[in-house]
Amino acid sequence: MLKKLLAVLVICASPLLACEVKDDAAYTAAIRKATTETFFSTELVDHLPWSSCVPAPDTYLGHIIGAPDVLDHVEQINGYMRVLARNSPRVRVFSMGRSEEGREMILVAIADEATIQHLDQYRNITARLADPRGLSKSAAESLIQQGKPIYWADGSIHSTESGSPEMLMELAYRLAVEETPLIDTIRKNAIVLLTPVIGTDGRDRFVDTYMYAKRHPEATAYPLTWWGHYVGHDNNRDGITLSLDLSKNVTRTYLNWHATVMHDLHESIPYLYISTGTGPYNAWLDPIVTSEWQQLAYYEVAELTRRGVVGVWTHGFYDGWAPNYMIWAATGHNAIGRFYETFGNRGADTQVRTLQPSDTSREWFRPNPPLAKVNWSARDNINMQQSGVLLGLYNVASHGQEFLRNFYWKSQRAVAKARTEGPAAWVLPADDPRPGDQARLLNVLISQAIEISRANKAFSALVPNVESAAIGGPAKPAGGKKSPESKSEEEKPKDTPATTTESFPAGSYIIRMDQPYSRLADTLLDTQYFSTKDPRPYDDTGWTLGALANVKTVRVMDTSVLNVPMTRLTGAITLPGGVQGTGRTTYLINNNGDSALATFRFHLVSVPMETAEEPFTVDGHKLNRGSFIIANAQRGTIEAAARDSGVTVFATDAKLSVARHSLDAPRIALLHNWTSTQQDGWFRVTLEQLRIPYTYIADTKVRETQNLRGLFDVIIVPPISGGLASMLQGIPMEGAPMPWKNTPETPDFFAPGLDSSDDIRGGLGYSGLASLERFVHDGGLLIAVGESAALPVEGGMTRAVSLRRPQKLVCPGDVLLAHVEDQQSPIAYGYGEKLYVYYSENPVMNISLGFGGGETSESRSSGRGSATDPDVIQGRPYTAPDNTPKRTPRERELYVPEEARAYGSWRIPPANELPRVILRFAESGNLLVSGLLDGASDLAEKPAVVDIPHGQGHVVLFANNPMWRNETSGSYFLLFNAMMNYRHLDVGRGPVKPVNGAGSQAK
Ligand SMILES: [Zn+2]
Repeated sequence: MLKKLLAVLVICASPLLACEVKDDAAYTAAIRKATTETFFSTELVDHLPWSSCVPAPDTYLGHIIGAPDVLDHVEQINGYMRVLARNSPRVRVFSMGRSEEGREMILVAIADEATIQHLDQYRNITARLADPRGLSKSAAESLIQQGKPIYWADGSIHSTESGSPEMLMELAYRLAVEETPLIDTIRKNAIVLLTPVIGTDGRDRFVDTYMYAKRHPEATAYPLTWWGHYVGHDNNRDGITLSLDLSKNVTRTYLNWHATVMHDLHESIPYLYISTGTGPYNAWLDPIVTSEWQQLAYYEVAELTRRGVVGVWTHGFYDGWAPNYMIWAATGHNAIGRFYETFGNRGADTQVRTLQPSDTSREWFRPNPPLAKVNWSARDNINMQQSGVLLGLYNVASHGQEFLRNFYWKSQRAVAKARTEGPAAWVLPADDPRPGDQARLLNVLISQAIEISRANKAFSALVPNVESAAIGGPAKPAGGKKSPESKSEEEKPKDTPATTTESFPAGSYIIRMDQPYSRLADTLLDTQYFSTKDPRPYDDTGWTLGALANVKTVRVMDTSVLNVPMTRLTGAITLPGGVQGTGRTTYLINNNGDSALATFRFHLVSVPMETAEEPFTVDGHKLNRGSFIIANAQRGTIEAAARDSGVTVFATDAKLSVARHSLDAPRIALLHNWTSTQQDGWFRVTLEQLRIPYTYIADTKVRETQNLRGLFDVIIVPPISGGLASMLQGIPMEGAPMPWKNTPETPDFFAPGLDSSDDIRGGLGYSGLASLERFVHDGGLLIAVGESAALPVEGGMTRAVSLRRPQKLVCPGDVLLAHVEDQQSPIAYGYGEKLYVYYSENPVMNISLGFGGGETSESRSSGRGSATDPDVIQGRPYTAPDNTPKRTPRERELYVPEEARAYGSWRIPPANELPRVILRFAESGNLLVSGLLDGASDLAEKPAVVDIPHGQGHVVLFANNPMWRNETSGSYFLLFNAMMNYRHLDVGRGPVKPVNGAGSQAK
């Protein structure tokens, strides 16, 4: 192969025009052989030209694209693209950066020679159209006429969807060498960008598993335990916070080129679905893009259908609502993000595939549906994908000026947003009690190229007269009882004015909506309402970032805010941090629930710290319950850690009398299994960003470890689906041992930060469950999130708690309101009365001592009178019914009927082992902040975070997910508090007792 390649390299010293191009008969024959049906191909891709200058893919790879049973690693794919660039003046390759594990992502640019020589000029044109401030209409039109549309197609963000990286190599070659009117039009009138592999780490691991299975058909096939370094399929849900390297690289590259169209290639459903989606579409986007999606999709559907291709359709898949997909690098920046789903085989097998009736039914949007049964090959997939992309390229190249004009209009209308539909701006007040997480949130927006300014002086503006995390309004005081004002606010008359004037201090952050990316800022910060009448959503329905970050964001409609003197930030926000005050004996940090406090604590692992069990005041500083107290430390040490983490520390010599206990930097383990690591991946992302050390430990390792308590203080079990049985069983103990290690056959399985094992079979097993129980019993803290609550609950470590699959609840990824019920618990330190949390149809936690809930019927019996006018039993004097006691949710949960104490006392745990509800979901009417919510009564007033003592230790259960996609920084500190106070979680536990069934508890 190498020899052949060298020969080609020598020959092609001559210019391209002198190259000979003819049909590559052998390659063409191989394509036709690998294509199972002519209706899975078109005249665009059923052959390949041979060029005397540029080596075809088979020359370099040793196989044609779409050959059965073979896939290529990233190094081969990138290597081939660079061969093209070296041998064709129509091709250039740029590096986009690297993945977490160091694999390169590349951008291949293809156009005619003249265009390729002036790429910078074309990039400057799209950049200017992207920010049309100060650009006259005639100047814009002139740029549109000179410009060329840029079409960026990218492969395999999803590692198991493995055909597109192969296809893109052939497409690149074809675009570089083929001479047809269609290809000429594309090369001349557009700039093609290709990224063959988005998820480079996952690509190599998937190819390892696939090729291993090909070489060892007798062995149990490996699961793709890790795709990327952190997450699997969710690498296409990182479009909001850009936490993964691939998202950062893609967004940076987009902003460098302003591609007119970005086109993701996915492989899941038959045979070729072209994105438009069912709606509801994201409501913050310019409606122009909706038309563009349809125009592009219908052109390709029509052109492929006319060529006799079967099963090409649009509309009936995916919604278009959430802004978290990778294509939002384009969509969120006024360009067009779109995608394909072709039929994939998880590899390159040729297989008979049988479809479900739901895939083959004829619908208005699928007049030419897929067939019930076909023989399907990798080459079929390549043919469909490549034909579609070529048609898409041709369409955009043929209407380049229209698409560039649309792009200009969308950019211009985004700048006009402040004064047309509004808001004028979003404001984040400078006096937010949690400046660290405020900065984290703002830095997410900055990484999205959203412009942020700071007010040079204090100002006031009209804001909506409602209290909401998302749209501002007067904030309730944090902590303590409700103030008299807040009470009167609830009772305010209906004619309250719609707006009120709010004052903002100097230094407040202003996100002007007269900027090009105003729509992205608005969609991320606003509240979302997803109607129950709409089609089932495809992903999260709510994401309000301010609410999830527990940071105040104010939606200001008043355009006078645009005239406030302000200074635009030029880079990311870093908080200085440091020590204030001249004291020498004691250092204090107010616990405001800011994530950076945990960074600080773990930075100084060996420095003893304490935490206050009550609020207190020192030297005029008011400190919340849970504030950090550090005595006898070196000022220099504290100062360095404070600067490093951006935390403000007060030094004092005052003598403190507040009750306190030690604040630990515990040894943390994060549990994973060997089948799916995605959920723990998001925990790893956040813990590593905040530099909180942990040990990544496998279920199989837990099974083999007798004394977990000797190794760890806290074990976190992120959501693991499948229930207790599946956790215990893991990968069944069948066949031969399955080592997870790097070998010559599987060189990409392991990377630092991942895990390895001699055998990944066997799950937790009963001995693993016993090890975990012993761990808690001996004083450890087990934190279980979402579905993983089944492990301690159904594994018998908790009393009086059960899990229930809600029957009516529809809550697919929402932002919900929760109340902090037990402010004395260390888990709630630093929090106020309420918190907005992320929840998505996890099991609902139920607490009951087993005597019924003591719930009273909310409706009366049928009878005389009205709902409130009491019934009268006939034939006897009227007696008022018993005053049915009205019980709080907690009282109902701990209810014991009087008579049951005689026969059922064994069921009642001692008071110090009763479940303690720290956080509780709000009442039905107040529960929803953002998203789709139906059947709210299934969840309303149910526990969200529960602490249950067990032996010397504790189990803490989360129904909400406190570490969801790096978006929920407002909830992180619930976890951190639990960890740092793991030895003192009983602090503040009130005299809680089971609730007697007699009427004495009536309120
Ligand atoms: Zn996909």
